[in-house]
This record gives sequence, structure tokens and C-alpha cells, in this order.
Amino acid sequence: MSGPPNAQGGGTDRTWTVLELLQWTTDHFAAKGLESPRLDAELLLAHALGLRRLDLYLRYEDLVGAAERARYRELIGQRAGERMPVSLLLGEKEFWSLRFRVTPDVLTPRPESETLVEAALARLPDAEREYTILDLGTGSGALALALAHEKPRARVTATDLSGAALEVARGNAEALDLAQGVRFIEGSLFEPVAGEQFDLIVSNPPYLAQSRASALPPELAHEPAEALFGGEDGLAILRPLFAQAREHLAPGGWLIVEVDPDQAKAGMDWAVASGLGEAAAIKDLSGQSRAVVARRGMERA
Ligand code: GLN
Repeated sequence: MSGPPNAQGGGTDRTWTVLELLQWTTDHFAAKGLESPRLDAELLLAHALGLRRLDLYLRYEDLVGAAERARYRELIGQRAGERMPVSLLLGEKEFWSLRFRVTPDVLTPRPESETLVEAALARLPDAEREYTILDLGTGSGALALALAHEKPRARVTATDLSGAALEVARGNAEALDLAQGVRFIEGSLFEPVAGEQFDLIVSNPPYLAQSRASALPPELAHEPAEALFGGEDGLAILRPLFAQAREHLAPGGWLIVEVDPDQAKAGMDWAVASGLGEAAAIKDLSGQSRAVVARRGMERA
């Protein structure tokens, strides 16, 4: 019979191989409407077995014991039933090839946000210079730590409104051996860096519209609302961020802000209105406008 991996109700306690479990779970996840059923199944089974995902391929015919199956079954229920994101079930997520611990206190880093890291690095060409970098609303620390990793001489400041998020970010900095180059400060928008200027400001602020919350994937309910939603229209943080960025940029400094694709035009307009130049949209790998970039002129006024 094609019972679930616990074989409950099947009467007989049949055995399951790695491959059979993956196939069963992939079908189950697909039927529940998950977007990447096979990948999720592989990640969760590897986690339950204490293996890396790719190691599963060498073990397709191995039998999986009852205790491991029980652990796996629990993960399947949380994923398909409660729609917990895989990152939270695993407690980690890879970003810029670095491993980040994630908890319900932080937004899980998204692959499309790597676009901002790439765009930032392209604008910090001097290997010797001690660039000053601000990551506003760092969450898990993803942007700040990816940049600190690539730019060991940079002085990076990471802020967040949430002290709990900053704890996670600090832990990630230590685990990645990057704590030395990064300063963490709690506070709203630019308040923690009053009077300071930076060569680069990056931010992935909350920009989703609360008014559209019901149309969003159920997984988002497991992430902190204050990291996702920018008020009813999604612009409540973006607007002051663009308005206040200029005074915190050093002459010639760059601002790079993640946005929803349909907010890119407004972001560029606000950047220009605040006195920044070279405003442009940056596309992610799927061709969507994912960030707005702008630059402060070289004049010192
Ligand atoms: N890109 C995220 C999502 O759509 C939202 C991140 C954010 O609000 N900064 O899930």
C-alpha cells in the first residue's frame, strides 16, 4: 500500500528506503500544493537523517529506521500542515554560499537578495580601501555579513529594530568568524547612526503591502510581520528610508534598497527627489526589478 512513511493504519510495519520515502513525500507535498516538493522532501529527510542533501543520492536503497522516520514524519507534518518554511524547520539557510542560522525572529534570507550583494560589490571596487557600509534592518545579518565576508577591510554597521533579530545576526557573525568587522546597533531606520555617513547603504526593508497579506503564501505567516510588511501600502518604511538616506551617505556614496518590482519606479523617484543621482533599477536573476540604486554626488555640501 502507499501509506505514509509511518505506515500507520497499514497494519503491517513495512520498511522504507530513502528513495521510497522521497517519492512518497514528493507526491504528498505536491498534492498539498507546495512549490518545490522534491527539494523540500530531500532537505527534510537529509535533516532527519543527519546527512547533507547530496549524500542522499548515494543512499537511495538504505533502509530508514523507525526513530528517524518518526523525526521525519514530524517535519513533514509541519511543512505540509502548518506550512512552516523549510529554512525554519532546518534552522538554517544558505545565502551567498554562507550558512545563516534562522529563527522565527528573522526574515529568512532570499536568493533574490543576493542581487543586492552583487550590485554592492560592483560599486566597491577598491580592494585596499576601508569602506564604511551600513546594512539597515539586517535581520539574520545576511547582507551585512555577505559584504563583510567579501570586503574584509570594510567597517560594517548592521542595525535592526528588533533586539531578538540582532541576537541572531550577532550569532551568525560569530559563527562565520566575521564578528570583528561588524558593529550591531538596535534602533529604527537611521536613528542608531545619527550624524554618521557611509560609502554604501544597503537595505532589505519590510516592503510588502499589508492590504495584500491574504494573497501571500501561507509560509510567510511564520516569519516576523515587522520584517515583511511596510504598512497598508507597503511603503511606510521605504518612503522615509529614501528620504533620509542622502544625509547618511558620504560624497559619492551609494544607496541600494530592495523593493518589490512594482515599487522600483517610486523608489527611483524618491531617490531623485531627495537629491541623489544615477538612480536605476537592478534586476534579479528572474528579470524582475529587485532593487533601486542611487548615488550621492561628489560635492560636499
Ligand atoms: N521578498 C520577500 C517576500 O516576498 C519580502 C521581503 C521583504 O519584505 N523585505 O517574501
